[in-house]
Amino acid sequence: MGDELDVVVIGAGVTGLAALHLLRSGGLRVRAFDAADDVGGAWWWHGYPGSRLDTEGPAYQYFFSAGLVRDWGWSERYPAGYEVLRWLRFVADRLDLRRDITLSTRVVAAAFDEQRGLWSVRTEHGATVDARFVVACTGLLPGPAEALPGVDGFAGTVVRTSHWPEKGHDLSGRRVGLVGVGTAGVQLVPRIAAETAHLTVFARDPVAVVPRSNPVYGWVERDAYRARFDELRATLPRTRTGGEDERGAGDPATLYADGSRRLWFGAPPDPEVAAYVRAAMTSRLGDPALAAVLVPTDDDAPTTLDAGFLEAFARDDVDLVDLRVDPVVAVRAEGLELASGAVHELDVLVLAEEYDAGPPALHGIDVHGRDGRSLADAPGAVLGLGVPGFPNLFTTAEPPAPTSRWAVMTTVRQHQAEWIARAIRDLDAAGGTTIEAVSAGEAGVDGVGDYVARCEQEASAGYPSFRRA
Ligand SMILES: Cc1cc2nc3c(=O)[nH]c(=O)nc-3n(C[C@H](O)[C@H](O)[C@H](O)COP(=O)(O)OP(=O)(O)OC[C@H]3O[C@@H](n4cnc5c(N)ncnc54)[C@H](O)[C@@H]3O)c2cc1C
Repeated sequence: MGDELDVVVIGAGVTGLAALHLLRSGGLRVRAFDAADDVGGAWWWHGYPGSRLDTEGPAYQYFFSAGLVRDWGWSERYPAGYEVLRWLRFVADRLDLRRDITLSTRVVAAAFDEQRGLWSVRTEHGATVDARFVVACTGLLPGPAEALPGVDGFAGTVVRTSHWPEKGHDLSGRRVGLVGVGTAGVQLVPRIAAETAHLTVFARDPVAVVPRSNPVYGWVERDAYRARFDELRATLPRTRTGGEDERGAGDPATLYADGSRRLWFGAPPDPEVAAYVRAAMTSRLGDPALAAVLVPTDDDAPTTLDAGFLEAFARDDVDLVDLRVDPVVAVRAEGLELASGAVHELDVLVLAEEYDAGPPALHGIDVHGRDGRSLADAPGAVLGLGVPGFPNLFTTAEPPAPTSRWAVMTTVRQHQAEWIARAIRDLDAAGGTTIEAVSAGEAGVDGVGDYVARCEQEASAGYPSFRRA
């Protein structure tokens, strides 16, 4: 595949695009690979109707380029998934990244050759690429869907929310069963309820929902947040969540009325808030039988923003099944059979999965470092950025790096990409050839601000947790 590279970037989502740009701007020869058919990462994979940010758009941007912020404008406070995907395509085109990205190509193995000081990266198509560095921008896998043994025996179509390309699946006029009422289910239900012939929602662990206030952004709103570019660039990485929507002062009613995450984000579960949200959900549902299934009982149940999720259950063509009371006992060719003996006949079975709720996707690659050791047996990553025994491999989605459960990922990930670009620059300036984490991974970090500060401190102190040779 042409001349030797300085860096192979794996992944072309939020992290991979930033890494490719920042490393290439430093004069390095870089190539990014992604298994997806286009850039966008999780936003490409989770293109189901209703997919949407819970982070406010102004915070969900790259702040390493004033031009990108100036020339892109979000159309709503909480942009839809397809708009986020369009933004990442805009970034790829504007920064001319596509010429260095190979799409539809999964990386299956990477091995460090100590003799040559190079990584050998192998793709699913059998090609091997050598590079000094590998930067894994591979993200987190989705959390598992409800286990339905024998799902292959279903004669209809099985669809997963994490494999839903744009314009992917036409559900109109079909009898659809949706299994799972986490964030993906909450976003999907109101969007497909009117389209399907009949929708049956199979629920187990409900999440708490707060109605999203999602005003349209025109020129006035866009200009207002663009004018704050310098301020946002300076302040977001210092906050606890990397965003501007963390739990503020105020009584639950006032915070609830904001229609944002300000009720809970970045703060420990609060019984008063949880009780307020539960009461609001019960009142919205207006039916104790529905509330018994859809309103969580735990104070620390995950919380997300919704747009008509609860109201969808008032429709005559939407049914609800409580899997805690009546579990699935068999997947039959015609649908799902429950313990009660009821059989729900379906044309399409949608399995809802939670984005970023699974393990790091990097662990799906066969990675071998010094002395042939496997990443599967490795200790944790230092600052989530480097693993002992794996010289010149940089990671991004490893603990203790904050995840999207409680942090704004554009803030975290662009900081990591900037840190990695700086680490390679500093290594080259020092005349070194390898950088390798030496200590075992440490315990959790206390928010995004703490994480960013510790990463900066590590670099400024000359990388004491890494061996540079
Ligand atoms: C519906 C939805 C809502 C979300 N809401 C928010 C939100 O409100 N706020 C927030 O901060 N985050 C949110 N997220 C989380 C989102 O995942 C992150 O914001 C961000 O997109 C993560 O970027 P990433 O590049 O690190 O990882 P990803 O976007 O997951 O990209 C990783 C890429 O690596 C590729 N890859 C993995 N393994 C391989 C391999 N072996 N070979 C080749 N390519 C590989 C994948 O194909 C993928 O394209 C949401 C995600 C979804 C889907």
